[in-house]
Amino acid sequence: MLRFSKEIVDRPITSQVILEQGTPVNILSAHMNQQGGEILVDIESAHADKVIKAFRDKGVTVDVRKLVEKDDDKCIDCGACVSICPMDALTFDEAHTVVLDEEKCNGITCGLCVDACTTRAIRLLG
Ligand code: SF4
Ligand code: SF4
Repeated sequence: MLRFSKEIVDRPITSQVILEQGTPVNILSAHMNQQGGEILVDIESAHADKVIKAFRDKGVTVDVRKLVEKDDDKCIDCGACVSICPMDALTFDEAHTVVLDEEKCNGITCGLCVDACTTRAIRLLG
């Protein structure tokens, strides 16, 4: 979700980011007026980090929708989800605890970690 304040809503920021980053940004819905606006977009996971940064650099507030949820109480840090995640969204930290980076997750089309988790610590949202 891209949120534009009234100070920047009249600027062609979305087209600028698409041109500068050379990657498509699929607009799913848009609500804009002179007071500001919101655009829901779908960005290819491989380009997500740089596109999100480009929007933020231009003053846009970016909320990344949470696609999966990990219940740390149920997780036993077995690592089964770490090895299977194609986006490197699940990794071990220094304490050998499995952590989820929600911004990297591509849960809408994936869900591999949900099937891999024997303790049902991960679930898809929405
Ligand atoms: S849903 Fe897929 S991309 Fe997201 S954390 Fe699980 S394995 Fe990784
Ligand atoms: S597969 Fe489940 S229990 Fe194992 S590390 Fe991942 S979330 Fe934790």
